[in-house]
Amino acid sequence: MNDHEAIRQRLLAQKQELLHRAAKVRADITRSSGPLDKDFAEQVVQMENDAVLAGISEATAAELAQIGRALAQLDQGSYGHCSRCGEVIDARRLQALPYSDRCISCAEAAG
Ligand SMILES: [Zn+2]
Repeated sequence: MNDHEAIRQRLLAQKQELLHRAAKVRADITRSSGPLDKDFAEQVVQMENDAVLAGISEATAAELAQIGRALAQLDQGSYGHCSRCGEVIDARRLQALPYSDRCISCAEAAG
């Protein structure tokens, strides 16, 4: 459980960083300084909805989506299981890639 809490903190920090980066990209592209909604959860929705329009790179948007899914899995207690075969994902893999949702064999099989 402590491991999962540590991972949750890492994911949240990573998410903040990505949102910050995305906000900068967004500001650069639109050249508008319209403030985001004050509510953080609402900001996330805004960022996700506007991801493509705002010119956020697909990689950043995909990473945010993966982090969001991993956080949801942590809440649901299903974190750390392969989404394809259901096996437990190796802890070292999760350390290296906290939002990974596939075990090594499935990740390799998928290419
Ligand atoms: Zn698997």
